[in-house]
Amino acid sequence: MPVLVMKFGGTSVATLDRIRRAAKRVGVEVAKGYDVIVIVSAMSGKTNELVGWVNEISPLYDAREYDAVVSSGENITAGLMALTLQEMDVPARSWQGWQVPLKTNSAHSSARIEEIPTDNLNAKFSEGMRVAVVAGFQGISPEGRITTLGRGGSDTTAVAFAAAFDAERCDIYTDVDGVYTTDPRISSKARKLDKIAFEEMLELASLGAKVLQTRSVELAMRFNVRLRVLSSFEEQSDDAGTLVCAEEEIMESNVVSGIAYSRDEAKMTLISVADRPGIAAAIFGPLSEAGVNVDMIIQNIAEEGRTDMTFSCPTDHVKRAEKALQEAKEKGEINYHDLVADTDVAKISAVGIGMRSQSGVAAKMFKTLSDEGVNIKVIATSEIKISVLVDRKYMELAVQALHDAFELDKAA
Ligand code: ADP
Ligand code: ASP
Ligand code: MG
Repeated sequence: MPVLVMKFGGTSVATLDRIRRAAKRVGVEVAKGYDVIVIVSAMSGKTNELVGWVNEISPLYDAREYDAVVSSGENITAGLMALTLQEMDVPARSWQGWQVPLKTNSAHSSARIEEIPTDNLNAKFSEGMRVAVVAGFQGISPEGRITTLGRGGSDTTAVAFAAAFDAERCDIYTDVDGVYTTDPRISSKARKLDKIAFEEMLELASLGAKVLQTRSVELAMRFNVRLRVLSSFEEQSDDAGTLVCAEEEIMESNVVSGIAYSRDEAKMTLISVADRPGIAAAIFGPLSEAGVNVDMIIQNIAEEGRTDMTFSCPTDHVKRAEKALQEAKEKGEINYHDLVADTDVAKISAVGIGMRSQSGVAAKMFKTLSDEGVNIKVIATSEIKISVLVDRKYMELAVQALHDAFELDKAA
């Protein structure tokens, strides 16, 4: 029988009533003849609570125990969803990551999926099970420890199952009815897109649009999974939501297709480091080993052989970054006068494949921000995106102004 993957995010399984509502949606697809793999997140707020507990007990935690704790929210919803389906007379059972087994590498708290053997689930499907409810976000390392896939990781679980089982489609049910031109919570003018190209979704996700985890988009693109984002709160037709698909499937699009933001950025500046060959490697090597996710980098003009080096990273990596750089300084690998962390910044990005062929997007972006009196602290660009760091207090204003300037409320 054809396989369908249906993923329900935290808000879609936040209460028993919502689990029942989601189970009904699953029942509709089962009635159409699909074998369904349901991927569930933890109830909304649960993972944050678990992360909070870990941080309170141990700020520089052992990531293996972090994973043991934070993966547990999904176990509850998987069991409850299977029970709900059974109550509806749909043959279903739950699977935790290790039972599948969903094999990952050992990079705890941001593990990568290595393999999903299909035998166990397929054996049950052939015995008459119609729904496999799989706990999202979690897997098992080669050492036999529980791993998690990074925040938002259930999206990636879903796409990986769709690829492994050659599913007809991977439907991501969430609290919005699709992918918008920007976060509908920030701008009331945000417009739902019927389709978005993999590349654009990849950039938007990696630049902060948390509607899909970046890695899930990467996998969908690589394995050509038909990926759809839709609401679990509305009755759905077969063409509801937003289809994330190959560029060729999209006829018209705006030069800029979306604006993303990331609230949790920090700007770190190393004051007065020696400007010599190898200095960047000496700074960013230890940061990378410490697991600090460095994004933008600027090296300022050197004066008398010394320079300032600025980089950005997520706010929750600041402590690790400070520790790694301090250690490198103590070992004599680098020498700097001071390390200044500015944790009151946000990153705003404009994304669009149209930028490849049209110039002037950056100029328009800078002009728009300047007209609003927003100072740009750092700039980074790639072929299809422009990102700026600004003071966090201007974040909403900047997103709304750019959304207006690029006329994203109007379709191409
Ligand atoms: P889930 O719990 O279902 O995984 P998430 O909270 O992870 O849901 O993702 C959905 C949220 O993503 C929406 O509520 C919305 O606020 C946010 N979001 C950010 N950018 C966008 C965008 N461009 N389009 C749609 N939603 C977005
Ligand atoms: N529950 C996990 C999180 O909140 C995974 C997910 O929901 O996708 O990040
Ligand atoms: Mg999510």
